[in-house]
Amino acid sequence: MKKYNFNAGPSILPRVVIENTAKQILDFNGSGLSLMEISHRAKDFQPVVDEAVALIKELLDIPEGYSVIFLGGGASLQFMQIPANFLIHKAGYVNSGTWAKKAQKEARHFGEVVEVASSAPDNYVYYPEIKDVPSDLDYLHITSNNTIFGTELREDPDVPVPLIADMSSDIMSRPVDVSKYTAIYAGAQKNMAMAGVTCIILKNDMLGKAPRELPTMMDYRTHVDKGSMFNTPPVVPIYSLLETMRWVKAQGGVKEMDHRAHERARIVYDEIDRNKLFCGTVKEDSRSLMNLCFVMSEEYKDLEKPFLDFATERGMVGIKGHRSVGGFRASCYNAQPLEGVNALVQCMKDFEAQH
Ligand SMILES: *Cc1c(COP(=O)(O)O)cnc(C)c1O
Repeated sequence: MKKYNFNAGPSILPRVVIENTAKQILDFNGSGLSLMEISHRAKDFQPVVDEAVALIKELLDIPEGYSVIFLGGGASLQFMQIPANFLIHKAGYVNSGTWAKKAQKEARHFGEVVEVASSAPDNYVYYPEIKDVPSDLDYLHITSNNTIFGTELREDPDVPVPLIADMSSDIMSRPVDVSKYTAIYAGAQKNMAMAGVTCIILKNDMLGKAPRELPTMMDYRTHVDKGSMFNTPPVVPIYSLLETMRWVKAQGGVKEMDHRAHERARIVYDEIDRNKLFCGTVKEDSRSLMNLCFVMSEEYKDLEKPFLDFATERGMVGIKGHRSVGGFRASCYNAQPLEGVNALVQCMKDFEAQH
């Protein structure tokens, strides 16, 4: 049976990315060796990193003065590497969801942290308004898309201090004004690649200001100076990232990704709002275009498990909501085809007809 992949991460990738990566794993560039067994310093691998960096810069229209690096450790390592490199006295954090809160917790190891805005008291059902940002912060950290609760900012806020964003779950889904940011990071496994690599975009002139001794691996300058080759980078994930960036470009770039994200989200949210069995979980103006969350309406609560079984039988994968929210979550990253969301909506309609 055909499967429709709504996993929240690791998540759906374009088929061509998987096929081309598989080919290189079997025989890298006709070398007779696998991508898994070459040296990262082999002359054929440097162009992979170079092209991946160049494509990210091109697709996001990154201005001069920024570096793009690839590290291991996931977005979660960035929760501490960001403050290690940028927190001098005091940092501000927007508490918009589970990941945002985790990022804030790690920063507290390095200095004073103030919560500038929060939707925690309302169980994160909206994206908190970013206003009255104190001007004495070293930086303000935001999480542009809340993967678990399904809220999204989807704009680049104007703030009076350096801005840093965890864009793990919506990077490459829309044009971004990178010039507004000091740093952007993303665990690649949602919209950029297979799991195993983290992409970090850094404004060069902001580096090296923290007043602490940084272990070599913690210091961004190590990786910027060595072009992500200070130590062995995650070679296969980086290759899959390159293939995904080629795909995004071939499809028409981030503008087209943005257009498709709006189209998919409209189709699913329209059905959530129309169908008497379901309702959305977050305020409408905060709805994520990437992670579409919904629950059974009050009077149909007992149909939650039956709907999950019904949808699973029809090939829907990964639509069970995160345990902290319950209900359902349909993650619609860049590679999610319209066919996928149409199949989900048909499922919702057919289930409604039965009840
Ligand atoms: C998935 C996710 C993370 C965690 O990423 P890891 O690479 O697993 O550490 C952090 N932030 C956001 C917004 C995420 O969606």
